[in-house]
Amino acid sequence: KKWVYLFEEGKAEMKSLLGGKGANLAEMTNIGLPVPPGLTITTEACNAYYDHGKDFPESLMSQVKAALEQVEAKLGKKFGDPQNPLLVSVRSGAVFSMPGMMDTILNLGLNDETVNGLTEATQNRRFALDCYRRFIQMYSDVVLGASHAEFEHILESYRDKQGVRFDNELSPESLSAMIEDFKVMVKKTTGQLFPQDPMAQLEGAIRAVFSSWNNDRAIIYRQIHKIPDDLGTAVNVQSMVFGNMGNDCGTGVAFTRNPSTGEKTLYGEYLINAQGEDVVAGIRTPLHISLLQEEMPAVFDQFVNICGILEKHYRNMQDIEFTIQGGKLWMLQTRNGKRTAAAAVKIAVDMVEEGLISKEEAIQRVEPEHLDQLLHRRIDPTAKLTVIATGLPASPGAASGKIVFDADEAEALGKTGEKIILVRTETTPDDIHGIVQAQGILTSRGGMTSHAAVVARQMGKTCVCGCESLRIDYARQEFVVPTAAGDLKAYKKGDTISIDGSTGRVIEGVVPMLEPELTSEFQTLLSWADEIRTIGVRANADKPQEAAQARAFGATGIGLCRTEHMFMAQERLPIVQEMILSQNLEERQVALAKLLPMQQEDFYGILKAMSGFPVCIRLLDPPLHEFLPNEEDLVVEVTKMRCALEYADDQKEAILSKLEETEALLKKVRTLHEFNPMLGHRGCRLGITYPEIYGMQARAIFQAVAQLVQEGYEVEPEVEIPLVVHINELAFLRQLVVDTAEAVMAETGVKFEYTVGTMIEVPRAALTADQIAKEAQFFSFGTNDLTQTTFGFSRDDAESKFLGYYRDRKILPENPFIVLDREGVGQLMKIAVEKGRATRPELLVGICGEHGGEPSSIEFCHLIGLDFVSCSPYRVPIARLAAAQAAV
Ligand code: PEP
Ligand code: MG
Repeated sequence: KKWVYLFEEGKAEMKSLLGGKGANLAEMTNIGLPVPPGLTITTEACNAYYDHGKDFPESLMSQVKAALEQVEAKLGKKFGDPQNPLLVSVRSGAVFSMPGMMDTILNLGLNDETVNGLTEATQNRRFALDCYRRFIQMYSDVVLGASHAEFEHILESYRDKQGVRFDNELSPESLSAMIEDFKVMVKKTTGQLFPQDPMAQLEGAIRAVFSSWNNDRAIIYRQIHKIPDDLGTAVNVQSMVFGNMGNDCGTGVAFTRNPSTGEKTLYGEYLINAQGEDVVAGIRTPLHISLLQEEMPAVFDQFVNICGILEKHYRNMQDIEFTIQGGKLWMLQTRNGKRTAAAAVKIAVDMVEEGLISKEEAIQRVEPEHLDQLLHRRIDPTAKLTVIATGLPASPGAASGKIVFDADEAEALGKTGEKIILVRTETTPDDIHGIVQAQGILTSRGGMTSHAAVVARQMGKTCVCGCESLRIDYARQEFVVPTAAGDLKAYKKGDTISIDGSTGRVIEGVVPMLEPELTSEFQTLLSWADEIRTIGVRANADKPQEAAQARAFGATGIGLCRTEHMFMAQERLPIVQEMILSQNLEERQVALAKLLPMQQEDFYGILKAMSGFPVCIRLLDPPLHEFLPNEEDLVVEVTKMRCALEYADDQKEAILSKLEETEALLKKVRTLHEFNPMLGHRGCRLGITYPEIYGMQARAIFQAVAQLVQEGYEVEPEVEIPLVVHINELAFLRQLVVDTAEAVMAETGVKFEYTVGTMIEVPRAALTADQIAKEAQFFSFGTNDLTQTTFGFSRDDAESKFLGYYRDRKILPENPFIVLDREGVGQLMKIAVEKGRATRPELLVGICGEHGGEPSSIEFCHLIGLDFVSCSPYRVPIARLAAAQAAV
């Protein structure tokens, strides 16, 4: 089996075998760009390693050796040669990039002898020794498990001894002595000698990279980004080029467009006389790429040219790593750059306009869930702010929260619902669990491509980094910043700050924020989505202002107006209770008569806000006891009143009448009590036992409709009956609605159109959809209830009780209340659509459960031929894009 490929043997399409980095190194090699020669060990080899109980598959190392010989031949150097040694880097390269999650080793091949060869070849002893000490540090840390801090300690002692501030000022003598100390420390802490045989070093490094696929941070990263655990990582072994050989050397990272805004300008950072890790690790704060133009104009021009070639070749924004050695440019990596949602939208739209990609491709370039970022808030520009520091605007949005200095603590507090800003000197991939739970991230060091920045942008989390005026003291759990007055001010753990990820400002306290506006590119992209998609997008809304918001976001109708939400208003509740507590029909009708004008006003508002589009109004659904006080509270009240009665003298009468009233209420509450209210007296069952309630609601709808028609509005009311299980239920209630409509038409003399339909939210309804369609002009899948009733999982309890456990143990692939279960619930939907349309070909079918705003569920709805999805107003843009992606 072939486990190893030279770069010239691969290509971009071989990503799943060679990993992202390996495939792109191969591609760049083959289009003639300057790439240091090397080889890639396949992801299959990694998987075989795990299959063999963490042992290399047979012939892996012999293939590596053979490929390495070809690299040697190309470069005229030999691995392990004491005269002119070939040095390599060993890096992980998964199929989906996992920035910084796995291990890297540089300068491999150095030992006590080859370090002299490197000195010879470069005529630079200081440099050779510096490479060697870096290699010992990195290798011992990653492969042998020695502690990073110990090395730092030794380094510091040598800096002090020599009286210098920076590592690059250390003399060859200091470095030499330090290397010996390093080796002693490695032996002492790991029990092993530092390996001198380059082949043994290489073997150890490959093993470590394979193993890093399953380190904690990589596992968490995959969970968050839904990357399967069984893909494995490739390993790239590449000949070293050096950015740290002097002032005509350097290393950097650049994006071909601005990854924050999408603007078409080169964007990135570099460091002169440094090795790659220095840039990403965020230890020294690098320079903006534009400065390279002055420092090394020829290299800069060549780089700009290569960026153009790569963008055209990949037809996407690229994230590029490069190194300059002795004034010569080398490409170390290219990949599609991660970007904020705003940048993704702008780049996709710009690239269509530049003729690089089609509209369909543009639609697919933006992740629907990502649009959520654009709907994020920002700091009110008119607000008076106390800006205490400014860093780099690493990930847009704005956030306020309490200062926390530790990722574990941020995680713990964040989980309790506390708003947190995680403040660190720099973040490392080990902090990822804290970042997940924080509202925002603030670091004092590191550039726009540091881990904090990359990870935050991808998560759509606000981040300010490289805020150098911040002096963080972990021991005291505080940071200090210089004030305008010239002194220092301290901010402690628990103090509240705000950060502005769009400008880099750090602000004292909580600040007023504004809801986002949508850019013209955003509108353009969504208008293309509308051209492409075939499924309609409506919104779930119960208030005129929600309907207006949904309309502004592009909803073309209301898919679900839950009328019970209108019953909950404070001033209405007593009337609703009066209705429920009525002893007979007459009493109930008195209460209903009071509710009628209120409901009519509700419907008037919402139909008017959505004029020209359909509005689906659902008649009362939940059990009546939801409108009544809690039984236990009433018992306490009654007991208290009885006690009061014993001791009262003058107010006996008043207390007694209140007591009687409360007891009556308690009795009614008890009568209405059900063991399983979700499966109880709700939905159309209520409408059937109390037809006067649905009668009132239907009348309120139609009177509002008649009024609007008279005023010249176009309205399309759809009256919806919930929770139907049997055709007879629907037949009965449909007649009630029709009779009411006719009565209102006769009374008002206004003719209007309307339809009557049903929700499908119980398996029996789905299975008998052919019958039900005889009485329904439309179906709307209530997948919240349909999921509940299909799985037999309570929608109110399952998530907190056991679904988390199910997810962790992979017993269910997804939470079925979030992502539609295609196999079970989906199959019922498919049956219902087919049977329903067999009876009534023009049957309108939609979905209004929470799944209507979830991209994968939307795709399924598209596939089974629904006419519309309906979701909350703020998810409408997401649904429009997801619907278009489903149609491409
Ligand atoms: C549903 O069940 O999916 C639905 C939309 O109705 P509700 O959530 O109001 O029960
Ligand atoms: Mg329901």
